[in-house]
Amino acid sequence: MLERADLPERVEIKDVSPRDGLQFEPKPLSVSDRVHLVDLLTAAGVPHIEVTSFVSPKWLPQMAGANEVMARIERKPGVTYTALVPNPKGAELALAAKPDELMVFVSASETHNYKNVHCSISESLGGFHRICDMARGEAVPVTAVIVTAFACPYEGRVPVHSVLDLSVRLESMGIADITLGDTVGAANPLQVAEMVHAFRLNAPMIRVGLHFHDNRGTALANLLAGIMAGCVRFETALGGIGGSPFSPGAGGNLATEDAVYCLQEMGIKTGIDLERLMDATRFLESAIGHSVPSRVYQAGGRMVPTGVEGVIDG
Ligand code: MG
Repeated sequence: MLERADLPERVEIKDVSPRDGLQFEPKPLSVSDRVHLVDLLTAAGVPHIEVTSFVSPKWLPQMAGANEVMARIERKPGVTYTALVPNPKGAELALAAKPDELMVFVSASETHNYKNVHCSISESLGGFHRICDMARGEAVPVTAVIVTAFACPYEGRVPVHSVLDLSVRLESMGIADITLGDTVGAANPLQVAEMVHAFRLNAPMIRVGLHFHDNRGTALANLLAGIMAGCVRFETALGGIGGSPFSPGAGGNLATEDAVYCLQEMGIKTGIDLERLMDATRFLESAIGHSVPSRVYQAGGRMVPTGVEGVIDG
């Protein structure tokens, strides 16, 4: 039985919409719009924001001007502003922009890693060694996301031990904050619980975060399963935007609004003001020029009884 006493007091939400979300929008947003989005997330009380990616604009025009975005955002003390880096060159550029944290990424499956970044997992880890050395010199922590951690579009279901082994290799180079990404939105709540339990049992030194996609409608159920298993860190995206061009069928990220609504209704603190968050969603919709999939944004936040009687609406 689900009881309030078994749930945590507080959960950390990291909003990834300025990077993971906008990266997959067909129309690149201007630097000013991306800065404004980050500032609105900060104003809504989001404690952790994935601001941008230092990847060549030749590959991702959506992330062009990453250094300018980092320079122009208004940084609030206590908020962590993260930059994603694909390789040591990206890390060098990112470190010059003074992020609070660097984030690297690797796939749990060899095939996906090769399709995504054109090298083996071991080659990716070789690059991370150099990135960790560079970041250590600037006293900037490095975190990682393991994509396709639950299922791979090419290799199918990913065994828990593969993800654990990879995480232990990351931890040995000083990366102890690791997010597990359900890149294709195929994970189920039981699988999530088993994964989190396996980490608590076998690798308690690793701080696990979870990142869900809602392709099959399981993202919020997976979040709850993660919380019940003891995870308190989640990545979500404003509006539920995002996807992956390298993962056939990849859909949107779990919407920040939907996660925050569910958590606050259960009495779990996030520090985020849902109404102010939806001010950011309104801006996001106008900037990207299309509607967003967030259910809470469409339905509205806390339900206010209307007093209308006799309406049969099923
Ligand atoms: Mg994602």
